[in-house]
Formats: sequence, C-alpha cells, structure tokens
Amino acid sequence: MLFCPKCGAILVQKTKNAGCPRCNYTSKEKADIKIIEKINERKEIPIISKKIDIHPIVDEECPKCSHKKAYFWMQQTRSSDEAPTKFFKCIKCEETWRDYS
Ligand SMILES: [Zn+2]
Ligand SMILES: [Zn+2]
Repeated sequence: MLFCPKCGAILVQKTKNAGCPRCNYTSKEKADIKIIEKINERKEIPIISKKIDIHPIVDEECPKCSHKKAYFWMQQTRSSDEAPTKFFKCIKCEETWRDYS
C-alpha cells in the first residue's frame, strides 16, 4: 500500500500512476491494484438470505418449556371482520402458540 508523502492519504490508481485522492500528488509508482480488487470483492458479498426475525419480544410464558420471553405478532386468520389472532413463539424452544384471550 502506498501513502502520500504530503498528506498521508492512501494513494489510489490514477490514469497511469498512483495518485493522492486528497492533494493531487502523483507517484511514479503504480498503486497496489490487489488492494483495490479486495475492496471490490468485499462489496459483492451477497446479502444474507436467512430471514431475520423482526417480531418484538414480549413477556409471555411458553406452555412447553416455561421460558418467559416470546416473539409476538398478529395475523389475520379468517375474514377481515374478525380481530387478528395473536401469536407467540418461544425464543428458547421455538414453540408457537395462539393467544385465545
Ligand atoms: Zn496527498
Ligand atoms: Zn419454550
């Protein structure tokens, strides 16, 4: 990696030689292209396809393992006239149950 002798910034590859992006200093050497390639590779890392659970966590006891924290969400089950059903999912054992109250 090359650094600008004037201001210390990391030199980037310009038309022919390495140059400073900050103060227009131009080096007689070429910038390390490998480093530039590595940065580009990092950008191409695919977004993790695993679905992230965005449900809020509430204080609800799991009927299976008695854990006191569960994910909570509402879901419209039948017609839209009825109130949506509350669902809970235990964060420990992943047991899912409905709230009938
Ligand atoms: Zn510079
Ligand atoms: Zn549980």
